[in-house]
Amino acid sequence: MRLPSASRVGLAAHCLYPWTSDHPWDDGDSPAAAFGRAVHACAELLPGFDERQIASDLGIDCDDVVPLIYALAAHAHGLSEADAKRLPMYVSHISGVVLEAGRTACVRAEVAIAYDVMTMHARCAARGEVRDRSRRGPDEMILIIDLLVEGAQAWAINWKTGRSARYEHPRDSPQLRAEALAVYRLLGRAPRASIGAVDEDGVIMRSHDFTTWELDTIAAELMELRRRQIEEPSVPRPGMHCRDLYCPMVSRCPATRGALAAVDRPSELPMPLGGIAIRSDEHLRSVRERVALIEEGLPHIKRAMREYLVKRGAVEVTPGVYYGPVEHKGRERVDLEVPGATEVVERHLGPEAAKEAVEVSASKTSLARGVRAAAEVGQRAAMERALLGELRAVGAIKEGSPYVTLEEFRKDEQ
Ligand code: SF4
Repeated sequence: MRLPSASRVGLAAHCLYPWTSDHPWDDGDSPAAAFGRAVHACAELLPGFDERQIASDLGIDCDDVVPLIYALAAHAHGLSEADAKRLPMYVSHISGVVLEAGRTACVRAEVAIAYDVMTMHARCAARGEVRDRSRRGPDEMILIIDLLVEGAQAWAINWKTGRSARYEHPRDSPQLRAEALAVYRLLGRAPRASIGAVDEDGVIMRSHDFTTWELDTIAAELMELRRRQIEEPSVPRPGMHCRDLYCPMVSRCPATRGALAAVDRPSELPMPLGGIAIRSDEHLRSVRERVALIEEGLPHIKRAMREYLVKRGAVEVTPGVYYGPVEHKGRERVDLEVPGATEVVERHLGPEAAKEAVEVSASKTSLARGVRAAAEVGQRAAMERALLGELRAVGAIKEGSPYVTLEEFRKDEQ
């Protein structure tokens, strides 16, 4: 039975079901998570970064090394253009901290420690062990220290890229507490642990010097967690932690499914739903908790439905009515950059109405507005047809990309 990773220890303290059941997990990847991973991948290169050496190894110009690394990181993590643009700023903030720490101490990035929660023994883990569980002891968990500074005092830093990390404190973070313990057991010294919250404005560092007393308590907590994981029955324990601590099973968990059905059990879901009345504080609390679960689970559920239907095709939901993917032609758009297009619009609408129709951007809707301004009621349809016909002839009406929506339909309507 695998142990939770350090970042999930907090969730495991509330509910061990993701680690005791056979239900698969939904990785629930997000652009924010991908951006965080790209920042970490670049930050990992910072200690001992030697631009010249890399340039000579790759046979490229020194000036091209850093842009190449950013481009590779953006590509490997599938970043959007906007995220790829802000990546260098985040990494440069981190590099300031790494440089400063490296002046007086040895710094290492992405240090993997295997910590045995029952024997309290810690060791450096080989790279391959991070993903390959078969190479670890049954009670070992892997903790990755983003930056380990070994100076007069050991210092473990964890980079976080979400704005909410600004308010997290390592003293209260199950992940940082476990990491501090692993560093302590590895180096034999009680460390300082810090959350380095990185954003566009810089790094906000929140630190805590762990005492041996605290570290012994953390060791006992992890031991107790492991005991519960092995000995207690495997049951989900729902609560606000399902959403607040990002349970990876939220869309598959039986308790969440139960919550969907029981969202308003005391009122027996009166239909229409607008008829729900909250009758007490207790009722409100229970409804609020379940609604939060639904909100969290709904995007996952919708995504799963979409994936299923795109793969399988439409499903008959009621006799004769199907629900499934429907392909649409791309929406047409007007491109006035095409030579001759502006002249066509001006000729049909006159300069005033043409200017108004395309002032912000040109579209079929804005041209229809221009036609309404330029022509009398009985002449508008003919003018619009002629205008669009001529624009099409000069190549100014472009086809958009086709797209798919999920819809209900009858087969004879298709
Ligand atoms: S969704 Fe909630 S109850 Fe279900 S496994 Fe996750 S934390 Fe436990």
